Amino acid sequence: MPEQRNIVVLGASYAGLGTAHSILKHILPRLPSDGSASYKVILVNSSSKWFVRHASPRAAASEQLIPYDKIFLDIEPGFKQYGLNFEFIEGKASAWDPTERNVSIVTAGGERVEVRYHALVLATGSKTYSPLFSASSDGHEQTRAELDAIHAKLASANNIVIVGGGPTAVETAGELGEYLNGAAGWFASRPSSPKASITVITNASKLLPQLRTSIGQQAERFLNRVGVDVRYETKVSESRSESNGKTVVVLHDGEEIETDIYIPAMGIQPLSSYVPAELKNEAGYIKQNTETLRVDAAGARVYAIGDVGEASHNSIMDIIDQTPVLTTNIRRDLLAAHKDIRANADSKDRVFKVNKTETQLVPVGRNKGVGAILGYRVPSFFVWLIKGRDFMLSGAADMIDGKKWAKEAAWKGQ
Ligand SMILES: Cc1cc2nc3c(=O)[nH]c(=O)nc-3n(C[C@H](O)[C@H](O)[C@H](O)COP(=O)(O)OP(=O)(O)OC[C@H]3O[C@@H](n4cnc5c(N)ncnc54)[C@H](O)[C@@H]3O)c2cc1C
Repeated sequence: MPEQRNIVVLGASYAGLGTAHSILKHILPRLPSDGSASYKVILVNSSSKWFVRHASPRAAASEQLIPYDKIFLDIEPGFKQYGLNFEFIEGKASAWDPTERNVSIVTAGGERVEVRYHALVLATGSKTYSPLFSASSDGHEQTRAELDAIHAKLASANNIVIVGGGPTAVETAGELGEYLNGAAGWFASRPSSPKASITVITNASKLLPQLRTSIGQQAERFLNRVGVDVRYETKVSESRSESNGKTVVVLHDGEEIETDIYIPAMGIQPLSSYVPAELKNEAGYIKQNTETLRVDAAGARVYAIGDVGEASHNSIMDIIDQTPVLTTNIRRDLLAAHKDIRANADSKDRVFKVNKTETQLVPVGRNKGVGAILGYRVPSFFVWLIKGRDFMLSGAADMIDGKKWAKEAAWKGQ
């Protein structure tokens, strides 16, 4: 009987989907078939559907703008092509024992199962403070319920407070602004009859800190165009839900703002509660070799990719760069474990380097946007064309069915 070797991938979003497809397409078919071992990829995710998070700011405004079937995509059909080499488990990793090389999963049905691994990829990502922008650990129905709840509240909202000055806050403010207030006409800087007062509160002195100041200023003008105001250098110290459904936002100087809708859109937290403490840094990110992506302290053939690991700066762009690196290095490690030294002799580890150029595209409402690519500022029309038009949902289909990772050329021969 060949030994069963499980390659377990935890998390099925940008990082986990890309890794699982790449292993199934480019590694499994090339592992030696000498009858000593059989390999299988087991993908574990807390929901049966992938929440396409980068489109969530527009989805927060209305289901008419982004229908739910475009933002919650079934995971399993895209993997049918691999037959018995693939298994999907809808469940949550609740514990991991690196010594026994075992992960505990609580399935969607509430059953606890233990899965032994030959190789393990940690891709459980991150969560936002607002439930609107990340997959709920209780499944996609919960995320959907959160979207339904804000849609219902928007119908009668007179005021909205959004905290944060990064792309999530700016995009969300732009979407809610245009949805509720419309946009300024020709030669006007604000909409003529806004329905709701919308305020973005940031503790920074500019919007979009990853981009140059003048781009942040342009973002503010585009926000004003849809009836959104920005308060800079203002810290929120707490928020309280009131019995009347409103929220009181308390600022650092004691000022209190009562608002119909409060959206904390600042920062993220890594989803790593199942990871032993000694394998995480102070902020909860998984400690890893930031070049090879291996989690060296966890034993052989363990890797982290995407938001949950400390190598990433929390962007899809990083994951797109990390996936071929990880694929190359996993392949080398699996071949080495198979004692196929010859196959590895002409290859070496591939390394990941964070792209530090000024690169970010931020739609502000449905027709405008700001940003830069590789250090070059791009016009609003370009941001609309690439991202704002459909929030890049057309590319999501290629990620979930694996077409995005069909070509081996990106990593072969490294
Ligand atoms: C609103 C918003 C917009 C963004 N837009 C962009 C953009 O335009 N461009 C860009 O480059 N970046 C963008 N980002 C950043 C980008 O979304 C993240 O970098 C990306 O989601 C990280 O992907 P990931 O696969 O590492 O993890 P995540 O996308 O966080 O997914 C993790 C997956 O793991 C699952 N999971 C979590 N814990 C467990 C567990 N214990 N067991 C099993 N499964 C688990 C989750 O359900 C989820 O499916 C945006 C982020 C936000 C919040």
